[in-house]
Amino acid sequence: MTLYDRHRAVVPDWVTLYYRSPIELTHGEGRHVWDADGNRYLDFFGGILTTMTAHALPEVTRAVAEQAGRIVHSSTLYLNRPMIELAERVAVLSGIPDARVFFTTSGTEANDTALLLATGHRRTHQILAMRNSYHGRSFSTVAITGNRAWSPSTLSPLQTLYVHGGVRTRGPYAELSDGEYIAACVADLEDLLGHTRDVAALIAEPIQGVGGFTSPPDGLYAAFREVLNRHGILWISDEVQTGWGRTGDHFWGWQAHAGNGPPDILTFAKGIGNGMSIGGVVAPAEIMNSLDANSISTFGGSPVTMAAGLANLTYLLEHDLQGNARRVGGLLLERLRAIGERVPAVREVRGRGLMIGIELTWPGTDEADPAAASAVLEAAREGGLLLGKGGGHNTSALRVAPPLSLTVAEAEEGAAILERALRSLP
Ligand code: PMP
Repeated sequence: MTLYDRHRAVVPDWVTLYYRSPIELTHGEGRHVWDADGNRYLDFFGGILTTMTAHALPEVTRAVAEQAGRIVHSSTLYLNRPMIELAERVAVLSGIPDARVFFTTSGTEANDTALLLATGHRRTHQILAMRNSYHGRSFSTVAITGNRAWSPSTLSPLQTLYVHGGVRTRGPYAELSDGEYIAACVADLEDLLGHTRDVAALIAEPIQGVGGFTSPPDGLYAAFREVLNRHGILWISDEVQTGWGRTGDHFWGWQAHAGNGPPDILTFAKGIGNGMSIGGVVAPAEIMNSLDANSISTFGGSPVTMAAGLANLTYLLEHDLQGNARRVGGLLLERLRAIGERVPAVREVRGRGLMIGIELTWPGTDEADPAAASAVLEAAREGGLLLGKGGGHNTSALRVAPPLSLTVAEAEEGAAILERALRSLP
């Protein structure tokens, strides 16, 4: 039996693998990974945006090993120095006043906590989420996921209303200018709120991740904020993919919508641990402390993960990887746009920083072509490049999200492989 056969025999069918012949990655270094057959790949997906700085970053590996040699776990019952240190740093970085930080083990659990806080604080279970959103796999987060491919259940502990605006170039407002688009979405939100009562929060990804790196024009959520404020509705920014400088222009994705201050609640995960399981939620004390019963995450904030997070964050800031994402990501985006113009199947190249989406459609139409996306993924792999896929419209967008330490030479190498893969489309 191959490892793939063994996977199929014991792992749920809904945990899908990439590639006709799935890859087993055995080790990595910097922006490269190797498979069990010894093939080397340039990694443009970083384990779904999780290997944020680099593979096998010595600073993080050392911090993990040193902490593991001292104590792996102590529980939430005792003072935890690495957790407090990371919480202090995240609190300051978040931009949220009087911030409190609660660590979890995943983005799902972070968003679940945000929903618990917002619904309790506002005493209502109505939530606004964006169409084409993804916020996690649990019962509560599936209930705010506006992407059919990732919604295995319609049963829900929440009442969710889906708001328009997260996908700039599709839908009824696609032809409008940015200003008109924002005005139309705001008017739609006002109309929606006129037909409902007592909403707890709006949750949104500044750039939709699983949705295929789609986003609204800058400023949309600031304009929404004005409406939300009038109704006392909280704004939750899901920064699981957009946080820590990945978008280049900003440290957090919400900062592209900063006109009316930071969000009320911010959630994060993925990149901060560079592969160690860290998620978390940040909120002002008034909201965070509004839970009136005990609540813990046994593994959330465990010393080994926190040591990794501290070392990773320090490396990120000391090496200005946000600046690198802006510079190298800007070059890569320009290069991929130029390539896209010469490939008829490319409908759009979008994104910012090192978060770039390439949407593929049947040439000359808006009709998604998921088979083309799969074919390019396979061809890129043959060329030695790992990519991601996504998109609410039948998974027809390629996702480019390398570690933030990507060099210009690696960006050029990856773009060249991707160009060959795109040109191989019939
Ligand atoms: N929010 C967003 C924006 C995500 O992209 C993801 C994961 N893809 C999650 C939440 C859930 O995170 P996790 O898989 O760590 O539970």
